[in-house]
Amino acid sequence: MLVFRQLFDTTSSTYTYLLGESTSGEAVLIDPVFEQARRDAALIRELGLRLTWTLETHAHADHVTGAWLLKQRCGSRIAIAAATHAQNADRLLAHGDRIDIGRRHLQVRATPGHTNGCLTFVLDDRSMAFTGDALLIRGCGRADFQEGDPATLFHSVREQILSLPGQCLLYPGHDYRGLTVTSVAEELRYNTRLGGNLNESDFIGFMKNLGLPHPKLIDIAVPANLACGRARPDGGVPDEPAWAPLSFTFGGVWEIEPAALAERLGEVQVIDVREPQEFNDELGHVPGARLIPLSMLQDEIPSLDRARPVVTVCRAGGRSAQGSLMLQKAGLARIANLSGGMLRWHAEGLPVDGSAA
Ligand code: FE
Repeated sequence: MLVFRQLFDTTSSTYTYLLGESTSGEAVLIDPVFEQARRDAALIRELGLRLTWTLETHAHADHVTGAWLLKQRCGSRIAIAAATHAQNADRLLAHGDRIDIGRRHLQVRATPGHTNGCLTFVLDDRSMAFTGDALLIRGCGRADFQEGDPATLFHSVREQILSLPGQCLLYPGHDYRGLTVTSVAEELRYNTRLGGNLNESDFIGFMKNLGLPHPKLIDIAVPANLACGRARPDGGVPDEPAWAPLSFTFGGVWEIEPAALAERLGEVQVIDVREPQEFNDELGHVPGARLIPLSMLQDEIPSLDRARPVVTVCRAGGRSAQGSLMLQKAGLARIANLSGGMLRWHAEGLPVDGSAA
């Protein structure tokens, strides 16, 4: 029996797909995300599966792959398109290759255009295909960096994806509106860039006028992905903290989710590293938080209680990540950064002190 799960990373709006085959117990993950490696490994274990491969649809510009971390945790092997020239891969894929999952398999199709190393993975019976960013639901990936080319993308999508059977379900690499799946017939009819009677020049005209900003993470993500997400020079994996469920970012910071911090307010020291006027502005602060502006944190390290974990907080999670790294360097062992800062704390409706609003 085929086991299928669609997983989501809220930070990068990336879908990761688990495909397993219950007779053999083998499973593959398509496009795992670095920060979600622990979640993915836990799910695979709970489902009684064994991760054999991580597969990349391309070298991503918006998140770092979890391939290397999962290889260390689960013993899986790493596959990515040969056209990416990535380091640390166990297998370099090309059009027509086949990836076995027990008795089932995925067929590899080259679908360049978003990047020159984009692949689409098609299930053996052509009932499902994983399109990466070549085809998104009612859209497609951009083609203005990483050797992207609109004309190439047009032909890839028309010839390798929309030529599949109409009922074939298409699972994209991202969705920014919460849509999860589409089909070949649907996209042929309703994709406003690539469907219907639109031709190559319509598509190129559309793609040349998208006016999208430069991706925020591209300068970190692309080099990291071309190393298959290897996080440390020695290839090791960061040790797992036990005091809270944390995720480790590629930037080297442990992060805690707002809800997990809310459950531990009595046990941890919350250090707010914003400026004094921000502490009681409309966002307020986490109940019990202590204000130590980032510029003063280094001098205040001796005043922290080393027996209790520390969570650093700021407005959006950036300055506090720096604060976390500073405390790590000073030798504190149990530190986390509040993911998304006070903005996310508010968005999740958690209690606030000192709010002017
Ligand atoms: Fe992409």
